[in-house]
Order: sequence, then C-alpha cells, then structure tokens
Amino acid sequence: MIELPEALVIARQMKKDLKGKQIAYSNRGNSTHRFAFSSGSSKEYEAVFQGKTIGRTTAHGMSILTAIGKDHKLVLGCGGERILLHEKEGKLPKKYHLLLHFEDGTSLTVTVSGWGNTLLLPASEADKHAHVKEDRITPLDDAFTLDYFQQLFAQVNPESSKSIKYFMITEPGVWGIGNGCLQDILFRAKIHPRRRVVDMDEGEQHALYDALKGTLNKMIELGGRSSEYDLYGSRGGYVRILDSKTKGKPCPACGTPIEKIQYLGGACYLCPSCQT
Ligand SMILES: [Zn+2]
Repeated sequence: MIELPEALVIARQMKKDLKGKQIAYSNRGNSTHRFAFSSGSSKEYEAVFQGKTIGRTTAHGMSILTAIGKDHKLVLGCGGERILLHEKEGKLPKKYHLLLHFEDGTSLTVTVSGWGNTLLLPASEADKHAHVKEDRITPLDDAFTLDYFQQLFAQVNPESSKSIKYFMITEPGVWGIGNGCLQDILFRAKIHPRRRVVDMDEGEQHALYDALKGTLNKMIELGGRSSEYDLYGSRGGYVRILDSKTKGKPCPACGTPIEKIQYLGGACYLCPSCQT
C-alpha cells in the first residue's frame, strides 16, 4: 500500500524523470480489476492522453497527482499500486491497469493490487478530490506542530471510546498515514493500538508525536518501506520493525514475542510488553 513515504518518494522521481515526456499512446489496462478505480471509459482515457505532455507531479498524503497537458490531472496512489517507469523496449508487467507509452520509447505502468486509484480528471476536479485536498496537513509540514497534534486530542469527545488506531488513521486521521506505517509508529511510542484516545496523557501524546515524525522521516530518508517499490522497481530501504515477518519473533527492545491481532479492518503487530 502506498502511504505518505512512498507517495513522496515516487512523486519526486516522477517529477524528475517524467516531466516533459509526450504521450504517444495509452492503454487503460490489459487486465480488468474491480478495485482499480478509474474515472471514465478506455476510449475517454485514450482521447485525453493522446499527444499530451506530462507536467508537474506532487504528493498529497497517500496520493500522487500528475498534470496531463494543461487541463487534466492523473490521480494515483491511495492503495496498493506499483507505479513503474520502463526503459525503452523495457519489459512491461504481465498485468497493468494503466499504460502510458511515451514518444521517447519509455513507458509508465500502474498495476493495482487490492485497490487503488488511476483517476484521470479535469484539473480543477482533481485538485478538489477527497484524496488530494490541499488544505490537509501532513506530519511533514511545518504546520504539524506538537501544539497542532495535541489540539486534535483536545477535540475528541471525553466520552469517546475510540482507540488510538482509529484516531490515527480514520477520525480525525493523520493525513497520509495508514495501517502500514502505523505499526512502527505505535511501537516507538510504546502505545497499544487498542488504547483509548481519551486515556492518553500529555507525555504519551508527545511520545506519539515524536514517533510519528521520527518514523516517517526515517522511511523517507531510506526511500520508503522495503515492502514497497519505487518508480524504478527498487524496494525501499526501510525495514519495518513490526510486520508479518516479525510475528512470533522477539521484540527488539524486550524480547517478548511479537503478537498479531486483527483490529479495525487490518492486522496489527505489537509487543504486548512494551506497548500498553
Ligand atoms: Zn517489547
């Protein structure tokens, strides 16, 4: 799943290596997939893409936005996707849900697994899309201060029984963070995913803030998580502390076996001793 670190890494690479390329032809996919979300028919996509030049690419939370000519934008990400740039006459993946072939002989493919966006929208509509919103603050923005983060906690109804996982990825949600990045963030903050938001004191909120910033910066610095791929097909260099591979293995801090729980629509990995 592309989350904030990968969206940022891939968007930077697209900005550098795709800008100015002219689209010779496109194909909305050689494989149908129910959850590869598109915004029009194959013919409509082909008509818009034909002859257009790739413009600027930016990252927005878990999404990647690329200008297609002057009037359209392509919205990618926000799910399980591989976005790959192929060299001239390079081998394309067997299955893809979008292909852009450029005049210089290179190609871009987008392959969705699970679900993900390949939306081609009029520019003004793309800018307002819920997955792109400019006014959302990510933990990497200067405006995401400790004070801002603590205000989010202050806005939670004192009667609420919601957990920290719900708070972090659903409501209000930290923009760009999903279940994939959350595991190591909660581990570093020593907080259990089921912990009630209203029970967290200021010290724990601060620890979570530091863990959030520190973990994301590390993930970006290392080119994303090792479970994900960049634009050139290389895995990221950030190896997660907690994931399916570490289940049952000793916690790196205390040696207790790492546990897996199913919680709020996704697997959580945690140390039952360190995380309370
Ligand atoms: Zn531990």
